[in-house]
Amino acid sequence: MHNFISLSLKCSSCGKSIMDSEKLVDNESSIKLIIETPKNKGIIRLSSVYGSYNHISDIIIQDNEIVKFFCPHCKNQITSKNNCETCGALMVTFNIKMGGQVSICPRKGCKKHFIEFSDNNVALKNLYEQYGLNGKNTEDDD
Ligand SMILES: [Zn+2]
Ligand SMILES: [Zn+2]
Repeated sequence: MHNFISLSLKCSSCGKSIMDSEKLVDNESSIKLIIETPKNKGIIRLSSVYGSYNHISDIIIQDNEIVKFFCPHCKNQITSKNNCETCGALMVTFNIKMGGQVSICPRKGCKKHFIEFSDNNVALKNLYEQYGLNGKNTEDDD
């Protein structure tokens, strides 16, 4: 029994999958991205579980630091037009394979996430409503 949502994401620029099935985070395929801090550049793998902040990064990210995210395929920076309602940073938006978009705040420590559904994807919307948007408690799996 799984009561969480694992998102499958694509780059909003080139449309290629950014899922990495070889490196798991929260026992699911991770979201692989190139990241850049003011001091460093590296690779991060984010949890694909909606609401989870677990990640594996090969560089150190300081608290409150805003990280830039780049697609591993086209190398374009992934941004959006929206600012975080909590801290004001420019959000990072990915396309969801099933339709719609998910945005995350790129500031370390800020927990803002939101999903926008495309109008024509009722199935996905129902799925999210059924499971709720609070994400998974990763400790009580199985
Ligand atoms: Zn891309
Ligand atoms: Zn924020």
